[in-house]
Amino acid sequence: MATLAEVLARETREGELYEILPDGRLRCVACGHCCPLPDGAAGVCKVRFNKGGHLQVPWGYVGGVQCDPIEKKPFFHAYPGALAYSFGMLGCDLHCSYCQNWVTSQALRDPEAVAPPLGASPERLVRDALGQGARAIVSTYNEPLITSEWAVAVFKEAKAAGLSTAFVSNGNGTPRVLEYLRPWVDLYKVDLKSFDDRHYRQLGGRMQPILETIQRLHAMEFWLEIVTLLIPGFNNSRDEIDRLTSFVAGVSPDIPWHVTAFHADYKMTDPPNTTAEMLLEAADIGRANGLRFVYAGNLPGDVGDLEDTRCAACGALLVGRYGYHIREYQVTSDGRCPACRATVPGRWSPRFDGQIASRPFLPGTRRFTILSLQ
Ligand code: SF4
Repeated sequence: MATLAEVLARETREGELYEILPDGRLRCVACGHCCPLPDGAAGVCKVRFNKGGHLQVPWGYVGGVQCDPIEKKPFFHAYPGALAYSFGMLGCDLHCSYCQNWVTSQALRDPEAVAPPLGASPERLVRDALGQGARAIVSTYNEPLITSEWAVAVFKEAKAAGLSTAFVSNGNGTPRVLEYLRPWVDLYKVDLKSFDDRHYRQLGGRMQPILETIQRLHAMEFWLEIVTLLIPGFNNSRDEIDRLTSFVAGVSPDIPWHVTAFHADYKMTDPPNTTAEMLLEAADIGRANGLRFVYAGNLPGDVGDLEDTRCAACGALLVGRYGYHIREYQVTSDGRCPACRATVPGRWSPRFDGQIASRPFLPGTRRFTILSLQ
């Protein structure tokens, strides 16, 4: 029987995001690690590798698919209420000990992470997304940057069918991968995990490429939202949240910032769960630093109006939420506040068509075939 690594090595094709170094090695530029790869070597992500002078990249499978409310991603300023058909592959360029998607992201590092890959094609994924009534299709669950070529193949098909496209990413990008993605990715969520490079090194990365990616995403006019999972004792000091939110506001005060509650997961089981008071305190710091759209997540009903979108100019309620449920929608057809006519930053549908689902659901994987381990 073949190992998962051997199966995934078969499910590859030559990638586009690499360059040949003067000494004959390859340099992958899909993520901020920029791994130099001698023949036969795989990168930090373990899914991209040099085979005889060509960079092989993942192709033709998914680690899972799920239909999510777009609020779960979370995007709060992009088509509220829409269904986001979500797919992922396997592997990650970081190894966060609290990962909530560790079964797929750490599949090649952790023998306890068992996620059988399902054979898939871009056409089949898009057909399934349309059949479920999705408005957007999202590469998520593992780090999408490391499987950018596959995401672009899916997104070309998706955009031809009228779907919006999105990345849910750790933001460890490069200028080259962002140029590659720009024509095909509409919405981009970055998980800004900390504002301390030592913390990022614990997770297997560096902070600088992530900050530069955030600046570039905004300058290149991707629709950008940022999430910080607030972990008591790890990243929730006033000083760190102050520096983090000052940075985001310095890129643009109109970037929505979601501060969300941690609960014990994977290998990080020591810190206590984040309380509503901790979220509210962090949100206050973000607003004091100039951020106009601050949201508190994962504790529905406990965070006052921090689940709602209000007009930054006049304070009118624009989108009322409870968890992922849209309980009120007032944005005009041209994306403005109905009370004062101020433009609301984001991507808006001409009208709100209700929600297909306010909870995630599995579309059923019978249309996909589990790849053989022979
Ligand atoms: S995606 Fe990142 S970790 Fe993987 S090979 Fe490329 S540069 Fe290295």
